[in-house]
Amino acid sequence: MKILVINTGSSSLKYQLFEMGAAKPYPLASGLAERIGDSLGILTHKKDPGEATEKKLVKETPLPDHATALRLAMDLMTGSEAGVIKDASEIAAVGHRVVHGGEHFHDSTLITDSVIEAIKHCVPLAPLHNPPNLTGILTAKAIFESTPQVAVFDTAFHQSMAPEVYLYALPYECYADKGVRRYGFHGTSHWYVAKEAAAFLGKPLAEVNLITLHLGNGSSITAVKNGKSMDTSMGLTPLAGVIMGTRCGDIDPAIIFYLARESGLSTDQLDDMLNKKSGFKGICGSNDLRDIHKRADEGDARSKLALDMFAYRNKKYIGSYMAALGRVDAIVFTAGIGENDTQARAATCAGLENMGVVMDPALNASPERGIRRISAEKSPVAVLVAPTNEELEIANQTLAVLKKKG
Ligand code: ADP
Repeated sequence: MKILVINTGSSSLKYQLFEMGAAKPYPLASGLAERIGDSLGILTHKKDPGEATEKKLVKETPLPDHATALRLAMDLMTGSEAGVIKDASEIAAVGHRVVHGGEHFHDSTLITDSVIEAIKHCVPLAPLHNPPNLTGILTAKAIFESTPQVAVFDTAFHQSMAPEVYLYALPYECYADKGVRRYGFHGTSHWYVAKEAAAFLGKPLAEVNLITLHLGNGSSITAVKNGKSMDTSMGLTPLAGVIMGTRCGDIDPAIIFYLARESGLSTDQLDDMLNKKSGFKGICGSNDLRDIHKRADEGDARSKLALDMFAYRNKKYIGSYMAALGRVDAIVFTAGIGENDTQARAATCAGLENMGVVMDPALNASPERGIRRISAEKSPVAVLVAPTNEELEIANQTLAVLKKKG
């Protein structure tokens, strides 16, 4: 059985076609259409991605809208050059990444007209993400007609948080009337690596307590209790929590009023500053950790400071989630930084030895890929690196919804 996964941004469309029938599902093809709506778009398509037989095609052509991009992707998936299927009828279902499901969705769901309405209802909560996600859904519905479509929400995994965890201490009406609360994001990734970690530890998911660190361009940390999200660092929006590429993470909210009064910045300018000009970029001018390490090694004090701030903030989250969870089986690193950055992992866990976290520097530095342990054998809390795969998780969840539907 084949499942197509679609992740739509405002000017981009990512896709992966999975073969789900094998013992371990694998991608038959993947692709990225960029600059949709510009005078010239570009679609990069790969057959057998990541395999020795990989074949890459790059098409530069106008992509006026998402429908044109998806049709071109289908032409490539069914074409003679790098095709993998005969026609669209081989696709059993389409899984869509949807960023915000608000309080409507605790799980992935089959897309119906009322589901589309509910996703629209969540647009004010994710004005940059939900509209393109909806475009992807409507485009795929038009192209695939009766093929089942499934929505997989970034927020759904965190719907298990309790009110004392998700509520802000604001007038209660802010929550009751406007839905202001912690929702959390990266749920698909946190859930995927939590399952991977449980399997690696040889325990049922429902019995593991974990702290999962998704550290990429956007970063979030989640406390997983008995396999469910108990707390997470992002909030109403993905701006909260740890230090990110260009986002500030947690700050004193009064800084916003202070800057508005003292610098005369407008709401939009402040929004832009906190989301796009802060984080690593704001502190040291770069938002790529590889670059920041290089500059720090060359003696750049701001780059060193940014790295120290990042590790310190991560450590504080780990400590607070250890207190919230009471018992922790493993700390799990994932995403671009979490999977690749030996130094960031070491700095984040340094000094936690008395809390039961003892790293093994050689294992941490090992170039091995795949899920692995990087803590010392005697460490009461295991530290793992677990590569994430959000597309595969969306495909798995799409399949689970299909099976439930019968
Ligand atoms: P996104 O949030 O966009 O999905 P990723 O999870 O791909 O981001 O992470 C991207 C970030 O990962 C980059 O900005 C870079 O800082 C970091 N990164 C990627 N590879 C490495 C590496 N080898 N060493 C250190 N950092 C890395």
